[in-house]
Amino acid sequence: MKTSLTGLTKQQIRHALEASGVAETGFSMRADQIYRAIYIEGAANFDGVTSLSKKLRAGLNEKFTIDRLTVVTEQKSTDGTIKWLLAADDGKLIETVYIPEEGRGTLCISSQVGCALTCSFCHTGTQKLVRNLTAGEIVGQVLLAKDRLAEWGKPSDQRLLTNAVMMGMGEPLYNYENVRDALLMISDGDGLALGKRRVTLSTAGVVPMIEKLGDEVGCALAISLHAVTNELRDILVPINKKHPIKELMKACMNYPGLSNSRRITFEYVMLKGVNDSLADAKALTQLLRGIPAKINLIPFNPWPGSQYECSDSVQIRKFAEIVNAAGYAAPVRTPRGRDILAACGQLKSASERKKRAGTDSEDKIAAPDIALPAALAPADQVLQPA
Ligand code: SAH
Repeated sequence: MKTSLTGLTKQQIRHALEASGVAETGFSMRADQIYRAIYIEGAANFDGVTSLSKKLRAGLNEKFTIDRLTVVTEQKSTDGTIKWLLAADDGKLIETVYIPEEGRGTLCISSQVGCALTCSFCHTGTQKLVRNLTAGEIVGQVLLAKDRLAEWGKPSDQRLLTNAVMMGMGEPLYNYENVRDALLMISDGDGLALGKRRVTLSTAGVVPMIEKLGDEVGCALAISLHAVTNELRDILVPINKKHPIKELMKACMNYPGLSNSRRITFEYVMLKGVNDSLADAKALTQLLRGIPAKINLIPFNPWPGSQYECSDSVQIRKFAEIVNAAGYAAPVRTPRGRDILAACGQLKSASERKKRAGTDSEDKIAAPDIALPAALAPADQVLQPA
């Protein structure tokens, strides 16, 4: 079994080289060359790394790989959104989504296969956690997207991939170390070089890890809030039972680097008759008082068997007006990727779907279940069961 060098820091690559015996000297320089080849040139195998001698390339090929995740399907929406279903070496499936917008492009990255949270409005919450992704598999989603977008070697002002959000499948702060290492690599100026402000991590509220994230990574933070009382949030986002709203707000208030120019995004899914009253909107503004914040109102995406409905658009508008009047930006997310079933928490798990492959015609939809970013959320799309 070859060791993957993807996801390792320069220093870790150097140690791997030292331990492998493929070279006798110059480990540090070679580690630099390999790191550059992976993250700046986009090499997917050692043969293309011509800065290294032929002999060294052969030695590296024997012991190591810098392979990509395997693309199982690639779907492109008429609005330009691209969704990749990717297989890891052990066959586990994850999903990565590219969302082009005016002047920028965002990659939505998964952190786990499955999810341990059981948020009641999220279909992904009905599946179990399968495993954590490694740092290499997380950063590998960026490498893969850059391959497919033909992004390598482009001058920075022509890049299609400018932002990254940890808003795919899984709870990133339940896989903290791998996510941290991957985010540091994604924002490393000597490598992929996405600025830290262009990288956002979304969490359902793993309070003990929030400050650490700010200290060690310093990326932008998004919180899946969705309710303003513990009573309701316990039901919608059950991690709230462990880390209630007050504790979560305190962690937000203390998020390192927080300022008016570096606000926290609060995600709020609009559920008809559940959390969308105008009193809820007022309570929301009171709850966030003192926290530099913006609020993303996400129209709920229904899924077969879901017990919720999306709020009416008039109600969403009234809700947004109250939040706006209190001085908070409250954009309602525009649906993206509708035609390729790229909606938040709507679909069934890729891993579970795969297990039933061949026996279940739903499989042919090739649309795995992940909690996609709100930007992808069509308010009116319902997955048709087979
Ligand atoms: N576990 C992390 C990362 C997922 S981000 C977190 O909870 O923040 C995905 C976002 O989509 C979350 O805010 C999630 O609550 C939201 N979401 C999940 N299912 C949804 C649905 N059916 N409709 C709208 N938004 C949904």
